[in-house]
Amino acid sequence: MAVTSHKLIALKGLVRRLAVATLLLTANALAAELQLNGVLKQGALVQGVTQPGNRVHFNGAAVQVDPAGHFLIGFGRDAPPRAELLIHGEHARPEQHVLQVEQRSYQEQRIDGLPADQVSPRSAETLERIRQEATLVKRARRIATLESHYVGGFRWPMDTGIITGVYGSRRILNGKPRRPHYGVDIAAPTDTPVYAPAAGVVSLVHRDMYFTGGTLIIDHGHGLSSTMMHLQRIHVQEGTAVTPGLLVGRVGATGRATGPHLDWRINLFQKRLDPELIPGLGPFPH
Ligand SMILES: [Zn+2]
Repeated sequence: MAVTSHKLIALKGLVRRLAVATLLLTANALAAELQLNGVLKQGALVQGVTQPGNRVHFNGAAVQVDPAGHFLIGFGRDAPPRAELLIHGEHARPEQHVLQVEQRSYQEQRIDGLPADQVSPRSAETLERIRQEATLVKRARRIATLESHYVGGFRWPMDTGIITGVYGSRRILNGKPRRPHYGVDIAAPTDTPVYAPAAGVVSLVHRDMYFTGGTLIIDHGHGLSSTMMHLQRIHVQEGTAVTPGLLVGRVGATGRATGPHLDWRINLFQKRLDPELIPGLGPFPH
């Protein structure tokens, strides 16, 4: 499915073309016709479309391109101000685009009163459990299907609630600096419905992870995944195909949580992105 044209940001004006075709190259030898849908900003997911058959490299690494020319790139929380996109046409010289990545400053979030063992787990048994669970999550986020489920678009996974945590914030838990927060937290009463934010296939269901409690991962294709955390109930199984808006679970306060909320994360493989910057998603609630 084509990305709607009004949401497309033509690359023209956003990037400088460094690789210039020589006079010997004919017009159709240029890879060209590159469209990027999204903002060029730390934490952002960008949906690209190029001519079918072209190959794409982002910051030196090959990117999956589906037969229709769809591909995804993303900028991590601390992505440097410059990124490079290379488009290789079948017979053309690679076309280089330099992307200027907007730099952000992040909030600081202090949470006190957490049980000490959840902030600094001690026992060997607990540490081993955390390690095993992290491996399961990592494995689910490594799935690299070429099905472009995400092109049908995203919606918020809840209709009601209050955003209480945002992407990238530095966290101080019980006075101790910890890893930044990478999801968007939506607080709502226990059992509030949670919906699939986009089409995909359920790649992980875990009822009780140490930190994240009831945990669900949906593969949206090309390494793009949603992780839904702290769920009270999960209504789907691994392998279930979902459509946007399908009821997949219920809000809870399972795992490390101070109250009932959904923590929704977006990953492009292991790279953590900001759900609020998904192209076309819009503000919450909408
Ligand atoms: Zn959270």
